[in-house]
Amino acid sequence: MKFGTYTFQPEKAQGFDFHVLRVKPETGIRLQPAQDMYSNIAVFADNVAVRNHPDWISQSPLGPAKMGNNNYNIYWDVVCATQPEHRAEQLNYIADVDKHSLGVWLNSQYFADHGHCICPRCNELWKKSGLSWLEWRRKEVTDYIAQIREKVKKELVLCIQPDPVSSYERYGVDFDDLAKYADAFNVVMFSKNYATPWYWETLARGFKKLLKKPFYISFYVFGPGDNPKDVPSASELLTVSVRCARAGADGFLYLTDNASQIRDFQKVAVEKVELRERLRSYGGQPVQEFLDFVASWQKIM
Ligand SMILES: [Zn+2]
Repeated sequence: MKFGTYTFQPEKAQGFDFHVLRVKPETGIRLQPAQDMYSNIAVFADNVAVRNHPDWISQSPLGPAKMGNNNYNIYWDVVCATQPEHRAEQLNYIADVDKHSLGVWLNSQYFADHGHCICPRCNELWKKSGLSWLEWRRKEVTDYIAQIREKVKKELVLCIQPDPVSSYERYGVDFDDLAKYADAFNVVMFSKNYATPWYWETLARGFKKLLKKPFYISFYVFGPGDNPKDVPSASELLTVSVRCARAGADGFLYLTDNASQIRDFQKVAVEKVELRERLRSYGGQPVQEFLDFVASWQKIM
């Protein structure tokens, strides 16, 4: 089992196996990659690209993939997944970032959501393909991942939405297709609280059954601009991690803006002696491994 941090700032908190830097989050803002960190790139979710090219936005019968379209859970603007200039630019960018970091973790490397995309180019491509609508979308996504794999010489991790059942219909994502190219998956399970760990454990079990490559789970600790009152408690994070560890996850990442918020989480986690003792009874080897990892933070606090 491996443990990582997932941050918006190029800072590495102590006590983790690896660090993932959000070099290009969905805002489209780009940071310099770091040689000793992995780089996370949001491919099609890109506010800057849509601001510069409004006609690139992904279209659907329920409106465009624009921040504020409440038909979808979209908190940013998403470029059409077949937009050729964006695809080409992102391929080169991904190759360059790969060279200057430990490897590449991609998210948003698929269609915006169900019903996307019906722009004139997509309609034409679909009709030419002779495939069903859903199979055409799957082929578009998988073919682009194959092109990305050619460019990425180091580790390639593909992030996926926490939907084990409908990712094909919603995003054009076929897990078996992606497993051919990915070194690992990262299931993004961000939430402002983990009060009911049962659901997250259920999702983890679903992904364990389906994914043909190792998979990480990413949990939300403290996002940019968050109020400390509105983020998950350390107790919730420890409990949900244990419950997903026993469901078969191969590792965990913890998302914060910067390294000091990771340290705050570590500090409180170390103080939760009684809870950590109780969680020992929650399962076998993976649970013990996770709790040993948390206990190792005592030395660095
Ligand atoms: Zn389109």
